[in-house]
Amino acid sequence: DLTLGILGGGQLAQMLALAALPLGVRVTVLEPDPQAPARLCARHLHAPYTDPAGLDELAACDAVTLEFENIPVEALAALEGRVPVRPAGSLLARSKHRAREKRALRDAGATTAPFEVIEAEGDLDGALARVGGRGILKTSELGYDGKGQARVGSDAELRAAWDALGRVPCVLEGFVTFEREVSLAVARTPSGQVAFGPLVENVHRDGILRTSVYPAQVPDGTGARARELARAVADAWALEGLITLEFFVLPGGDLLVNEVAPRVHNSGHLTQDGGGLSQFEAQVRAVLDLPLADWAPLHPTAMLNVVGVDGPDGQPLEPDWAAIDAMSGTRVHLYHKAHRHGRKVGHVNLVAPDAATLRGRLAALAPLVP
Ligand code: ATP
Ligand code: MG
Ligand code: MG
Repeated sequence: DLTLGILGGGQLAQMLALAALPLGVRVTVLEPDPQAPARLCARHLHAPYTDPAGLDELAACDAVTLEFENIPVEALAALEGRVPVRPAGSLLARSKHRAREKRALRDAGATTAPFEVIEAEGDLDGALARVGGRGILKTSELGYDGKGQARVGSDAELRAAWDALGRVPCVLEGFVTFEREVSLAVARTPSGQVAFGPLVENVHRDGILRTSVYPAQVPDGTGARARELARAVADAWALEGLITLEFFVLPGGDLLVNEVAPRVHNSGHLTQDGGGLSQFEAQVRAVLDLPLADWAPLHPTAMLNVVGVDGPDGQPLEPDWAAIDAMSGTRVHLYHKAHRHGRKVGHVNLVAPDAATLRGRLAALAPLVP
C-alpha cells in the first residue's frame, strides 16, 4: 500500500482520492476548511497548510502533491528533503505568480499575450498602449475563476481597476482576440516518462469555465503544437507530476499560453467518464512514479460545470437533476459544497458515440443547468 499526501482538500483532492483508492493508494489531505470536499473520501488533517504537525504527517507519506496553487511555498519548502514533493516548490512558485509564470513560459519558448507588470503607480503610465490599447488587469496572485481581474479599455479604466483590485501587484495583459480556447495536461514521472492528456476545447462565461469538449475542433497540427509546447515547459520547469496548460488559439492557428495550473484542471474532468484513464489517475501515477501512458477519452465527451446561481428571489436556482439523470450519457459529479453564487459545486460529464450526437446532447443538457 502506498500513501499520497495532498496539500489542499477541495474537489480536485476529492477526485484525486477517488482515483487513488483502486490503485491501492490511500490519501491524506492537509486542509484548513472543515467542510472541504475531500473530507469525505480521504484522511483529513484539519489544520493550516503550514501547520508543523500536519506537515509531519504528510512527510510520512510516500509522496506529496497539491491540488491548489494558493498554497504557501513555505509549506512545500518544509516538506522538501523529507518526502518527494511533486510538483516541486520551485514550480509552484512560478505558476502561482502571473508575472513570474509568463516570464518562465517565454524562457521555455512559449508565446504569451503581451503584458506589463504593474507594481507601483508609475507602472500604469503608457502600459495600456504598450499592450495594444485594450487589456485585462489581473492580480499577480490568488486569482481564480476570473476573480481578481478587470477588463480595461482606457487609461482611466486601468487606474480605476488598479484601485479596485487594492493596488496589489498585477499584470496587465493585452486583450487577445482568440478563435477558441483549449487546454492540455502533461505529466512527467520522476523516472522521466512523459505522457499527455487530450486536447480539450473550453468555453468560459463570466470568467468561469462553462463547458469543455473533447475532441477540440482545431486545425491539423494544433494538437501536436500544444504537446510540443507542453513538453518544452515540462522540461524547462523540471516537472515531476502533472501540469495543465491553458491556450488561446489565434485565428491563424498559432497558440498563446494563457496560464499553467500546477495540477489537474477543471477542463480535464471529462476524462473521468470518457472510457480512458482519468487525469486524476494520471496525476496519482505521475506523482508516485507508477507507469503512465498518454490518456484521452475513448469517445467524444463533454463536461458542463454546475455553478451556484442565485435566483431573482435570492434562492439558489437548482439544475433539473431528474431530467439530467434521465438523459442518455450523463454522469453527475457533486462536490458536497454549500451553495454560494458563482461557486463551482459539481459538474456533469456527457459521453456520446460520435461528435454530432455529443453536440446535440450538450445542447439539450445546457438549459437544464442554470
Ligand atoms: P482559472 O484559474 O479558473 O482558469 P483565472 O482567474 O486564472 O481562471 P484566466 O484564466 O486568466 O483566469 O482568465 C479567465 C478567462 O478570461 C480565460 O479563460 C479567457 O476566457 C479570458 N481571458 C483571460 N485573459 C485574457 C486575455 N488576455 N485576452 C482575452 N481573454 C482573456
Ligand atoms: Mg488561473
Ligand atoms: Mg485560467
